[in-house]
Amino acid sequence: MAGIDISRRRIMLGASSAIGSTISAGLIGLGGAALAKAPKMTSQPATYYRFDIGEMQATVISDGPLPLGEPSGSFKGVTKEDVQKQLSDNFLNPENVVLEQNILILNTGSRLVLFDSGMGTSKLFGPSTGRLQTSMQQAGIEKDDIDDIICTHAHIDHIGGLATDTGYRLFRNATVHIAKADFDFWTDAAKLDSDLTAFVAHARQNLLPYKSRMKFVEDGKDVVPGVEAMAAPGHTVGHMVYIIKSGKESLAFTGDTTHHHVLLTERPKTEFAYDSDPKLAVQSRLKVLDMVATARMPILAYHFPWPGLGYMAKQGDGYRYIAQPMSLVKAPPKKA
Ligand SMILES: [Zn+2]
Repeated sequence: MAGIDISRRRIMLGASSAIGSTISAGLIGLGGAALAKAPKMTSQPATYYRFDIGEMQATVISDGPLPLGEPSGSFKGVTKEDVQKQLSDNFLNPENVVLEQNILILNTGSRLVLFDSGMGTSKLFGPSTGRLQTSMQQAGIEKDDIDDIICTHAHIDHIGGLATDTGYRLFRNATVHIAKADFDFWTDAAKLDSDLTAFVAHARQNLLPYKSRMKFVEDGKDVVPGVEAMAAPGHTVGHMVYIIKSGKESLAFTGDTTHHHVLLTERPKTEFAYDSDPKLAVQSRLKVLDMVATARMPILAYHFPWPGLGYMAKQGDGYRYIAQPMSLVKAPPKKA
């Protein structure tokens, strides 16, 4: 028996040393390529995601991520420890909350509509924003072909990409649609000398060039055929959600109803520092989240993880965001 054990051991040793030499030979064969230092990823190329809503075609593009930094100053009514635990439990960095900027371009069949426009040239939130024009080129969409620009509200990260630094319209043929309350509030020159200076200056730079081609949206009314405005105030005075309908399909473009897919959904009553009226924002958030959860309506959330397309499900006292699987073909394939 001992002999058998020895021979087994030899076989095993022999086998492992053979594998060992193969690995060594392979590494030597690959030479410098395998041993070279891997380059560090700095940025993904601009990209887009396309899908249908009934007879309409939707394209999501990105203006780039918008880092908020350490979160305790941005989310109110919860302790710093609670916020950090929520982030850690979801495998997110507890020291830096990063929001995306998911911009929708909708081809209704008769009009090409841009929903919100990112930060433009402002680097208020760092260098990673301002990719709208590059992303549009990547998606094969010409800015001169945009007929309408529908804005959820007049904050810097939603209207910032509309005009040049020198105040010229980047979208020469477009009509801008926004709530009058928001336009009036954020382009008010009297607020230039306040703690809202950067936001007001940027709103004036980007919205005033469109003043002669601007239409004000109203709650419950169609903005363009197939797109209905729904007032969801609080984040700003005139913040709007847009419900897109075509055939039997629909999508809610929810803007800044909720900024974070965990922090403001699991605990939707958490207040957000950038809300003009945080209590009213919470009411609007609860109303919109309840509506889309009950109707099982897909949402496109501006600041959720790219591309921001998914569903809200009721969970306890709050909600859970469930991202829709991205599909590389028109409809998910069936087994042949
Ligand atoms: Zn925003």
